[in-house]
Amino acid sequence: MPWNDEFECMPLEKMQAFQLEKLKETVEWVAKRVPFYQEKFKKLGIKASDLKSVEDVAKLPFTEKNDLRDNYPFGLCAVDLKEVVRVHASSGTTGKPITGPYTKEDLEQWTECMVRNFWAAGVRPEHVVQNAYGYGLFTGGLGFHQGATALGCTVVPTSSGMTERQITLMQDFKTDVLCCTPSYALTMAERAEELKVDLRSLPLSIGMFGAEPWSTQMRKEIEERMGIRAMEAYGLTELGGPGVGFDCEVQDGIHINEDFYLVEIVDPVTLEPLPLGEKGELVFTSLQRRAMPMIRYRTKDITRLRREECPCGRTFVKMDKIYGRTDDMLIISGVNVFPSQIESLLLDIEEVEPQYQLVVRKKGYLDQLLVRVEAKKEIYAAGEKKRMEVEGKIMAHIRGHMGIGVEVNLVEPKYIARSEGKALRVVDERPKQFR
Ligand code: ADP
Ligand code: ZN
Repeated sequence: MPWNDEFECMPLEKMQAFQLEKLKETVEWVAKRVPFYQEKFKKLGIKASDLKSVEDVAKLPFTEKNDLRDNYPFGLCAVDLKEVVRVHASSGTTGKPITGPYTKEDLEQWTECMVRNFWAAGVRPEHVVQNAYGYGLFTGGLGFHQGATALGCTVVPTSSGMTERQITLMQDFKTDVLCCTPSYALTMAERAEELKVDLRSLPLSIGMFGAEPWSTQMRKEIEERMGIRAMEAYGLTELGGPGVGFDCEVQDGIHINEDFYLVEIVDPVTLEPLPLGEKGELVFTSLQRRAMPMIRYRTKDITRLRREECPCGRTFVKMDKIYGRTDDMLIISGVNVFPSQIESLLLDIEEVEPQYQLVVRKKGYLDQLLVRVEAKKEIYAAGEKKRMEVEGKIMAHIRGHMGIGVEVNLVEPKYIARSEGKALRVVDERPKQFR
C-alpha cells in the first residue's frame, strides 16, 4: 500500500483535473509576483485562464538554468524573504550556484514527497536510517533527513565522507537503510571489503540512491556487494531537491509525484513536446511550490515516460532510469554516447572493477574517447600482455554494442579517485573552444 493512496493512486482523469487547477494557481501566483515570468507571459500574451487542459502547459515559456543564474540569488523568488524559512543551493560545479528558497509550506510538501519515497522503498518507522548524503547547502542531506524523521525512523545523520566511520556506525547501530549517491555506496562497499567487514551479513537491507546517473548494471553490482535492495531517488535543486520521483518495489521505472510536478518530455533541439514513450528532455512545472515555483523547467536529463498499470497500485506516471544529462552527452564518431551506457558495458567485463572515467580529447576535428577503467588486482599484476588482452576485449565489446571505436586504458587498482558524493565520470581535455 502506498503512503498516500489518495494521491499516489488517484485515477488519471481526477489527477489531471487537480493538476490543471494547481497549474492555473501557480501561473497566477508567479504572474503577480515575479517580474521575470510577468514579462515572459506578457510577451506571449498568455494568462492562467487560457489554460484549458494540462496539455496547455505547452503554451507556457520554458525556464532554464541560466535564467536562475541571471536572477541569482532571489530574483525568481515569489515571496518576501520574510516568508522564506530555508535556502539551499546547488553545488555550482558548472558556474555560479543557483538557489532554492522554501517557505514553511514548501518544506512540508518536500517532506511529504520524501516520506513517499522512503515508504515506497520499503522503509518503515522501526528502521535505522544512516544518511550519508552531504548535509549543508546540497538538498540531499536535509531532504532525506526530513523524510526519514517525519516517517519516525531512527536517523543517523552521518553526512558524506569518513568512510571507515560510516562502516563502523553501520555495524554498531545496526543500520537498516543507507542513503547516499550510488558511487559513494560503491566506495563504501569497497572499503568494507578491505576492512574485511562483510556488509552482506549486517542488518543493512535497503539503499536509497540518487543524485547522479547510474546504470541498471551498477544497481545490481551494489545490491550484490552490499546484500541490499538498491532503490532510486530522483530530484534536483531547482524543483526543491530529491522527492521529485522514486521507484517502487517493482524496481522498474521511477514514479513521479504528479500532484506536485507536472512532467513533459520535449525534443531537446526543437523543444516540441513529445508523445508518451519517446525519449527526450524532462521538463517539470511545479504545481504547489510557493517560494520559487518553476514553470517548464528544462532539466537537461534525458529519459522516456510510460503510463502503465504498475503492480504497486500507484497511478503516477513512470520514467525510465535517467539515461544521462544532455551536458554529459558525448558525440563520438557521430554517435550520441552517455557515460551510463559505457558504464553498463564495462560492468559486463569481469576482469575490471566498476571504477571508470571517460576522457574526451580532440584528434583533428573529431572527438575521441579514452575509457580509463581499473583492472582487478590479479589482472593488473598478471602483466602487460594480459592487460592488453583485456583492453582489446573491452574495445570490441563497446564497438559491438555501440558501433564506436574507443581507446581503453586499463589502470591499476585505486587509480581513479573514489567518490563521496557525485562521481566525476567525464574529464574533458578538449581545447576550450571545442567544449
Ligand atoms: P547540481 O546541479 O549541482 O548537480 P542537483 O543536486 O540539483 O545539483 O543535481 C540534480 C541532477 O542530478 C539532476 O538534474 C540529474 O541530472 C541528477 N540526478 C538526480 N537524481 C538522479 C537519479 N536518480 N538518476 C540520475 N540522475 C539523477
Ligand atoms: Zn510502482
